Amino acid sequence: MTSTTQSQQLFDRALEVIPGGVNSPVRAFRGVGGTPRFVASAKGAYLTDVDGNRYVDLIGSWGPMILGHAHPDVLAAVTEAAARGFSFGTPSENEVALAAEIVARVEPVEQVRLVSSGTEATMSALRLARGVTGRSAVVKFAGCYHGHVDALLAHAGSGVATFALPDSAGVPASAAGETIVLPYNDIDAVEQVFAERGEEIAAVITEASPGNMGVVPPAPGFTEGLRRVTREHGALLISDEVMTGFRCSAAGWYGLETGEGGNSPGGYPSGAPDLFTFGKVMGGGFPAAAFGGRAEIMAQLAPDGPVYQAGTLSGNPVATAAGLATLRGCTPSLYGRLQSVADTISSAADTALTDAGVPHVVQRAGSMFSIFFTEGVDGAVTSYAEAQAQDTAAFGRFFHSMLDAGVHLPPSAFESWFVSAAHDDAAVEQVLDALPAAGRAAG
Ligand code: PMP
Repeated sequence: MTSTTQSQQLFDRALEVIPGGVNSPVRAFRGVGGTPRFVASAKGAYLTDVDGNRYVDLIGSWGPMILGHAHPDVLAAVTEAAARGFSFGTPSENEVALAAEIVARVEPVEQVRLVSSGTEATMSALRLARGVTGRSAVVKFAGCYHGHVDALLAHAGSGVATFALPDSAGVPASAAGETIVLPYNDIDAVEQVFAERGEEIAAVITEASPGNMGVVPPAPGFTEGLRRVTREHGALLISDEVMTGFRCSAAGWYGLETGEGGNSPGGYPSGAPDLFTFGKVMGGGFPAAAFGGRAEIMAQLAPDGPVYQAGTLSGNPVATAAGLATLRGCTPSLYGRLQSVADTISSAADTALTDAGVPHVVQRAGSMFSIFFTEGVDGAVTSYAEAQAQDTAAFGRFFHSMLDAGVHLPPSAFESWFVSAAHDDAAVEQVLDALPAAGRAAG
């Protein structure tokens, strides 16, 4: 049993001065019980907590740390940028370089506006879609999380799923009333709502491949179906790649889906999504995110257009330096390595749970994967309702067994596991060694 004395002391103090002791709800371990580990430092594939315990990290800061923690190239870029000043409030060179990197990678994106969080990116993309179309309703899918934007919190995944909330208090009925929530992967429901209310709908927003109800990839043809229906009715399609962007491939889920072996290998016959949102990897662990699309749509933003959007720290020179160095490290060989680490760990987890007789489903989206503690429907989980049917208590036992063996999973059954290029054979071995006992603990 590892000592958690220092973490517990810090948590007790945190509970006095921070609501729930945390600055983002899922960190509180409410879904799994126990004391959240206060991390003192992180390097490569490992976290070290304030009690000196070392863990193989499969949270990866919930996505950004694709190169591993404190990667030397990113550290050098950040140190060099910070030495030149922290924030200017004027345009600066790295903003241009980071925007150009993103535009070069994701073919339908001609321009991006940089912001500081994924929430800001989706909030701004939605405002832009409403401004462009002159309509106010938005369609989202149950189990998709797009940050804590008022209009997008209804039936959201991530922490909202972990705490089994339908939505959030504090969201006015007027904001929620413009949100239409549909079941994921159900194109008939989308067609029906557009047939009834198509004239009112500004946009459909979807996670490119959902990772916030666990990993639930779009069924073949689903994204193309969204594209077709939105186009027919003059609504925009917003693809939220905050989690999948630059992680599932160099061009995110879009690259995977439209590439060889993807769900839409010929691209989208009805056109690409109109707007994309990005975050996580593109900030390399610093606050940087973006939304972007065709230049004619982006021209509707201030200062050229009537849709206002701004930010004191947007395009921050240190954050953009971290993002640039991270994206430049995302080479084809990195994606190959992530795939093979994800293959090895996900299949070992599958085996461990099968051997222990624990009902489960393993699902993948590129190197993102998660385990549902349920049999699924025909061996798969395709919607939020199916994801919610899982045995979260079994996940809690599995989670703590892994933690005791020095492997830190995301503390929720509704989250993707994130691997990095720093997960070398020794780190992977430690995960594999921990899995059989965790499988038995879950059973
Ligand atoms: N969209 C998606 C798909 C996400 O996964 C997240 C964060 N988990 C967000 C938006 C919100 O990003 P942030 O937490 O940076 O506001």
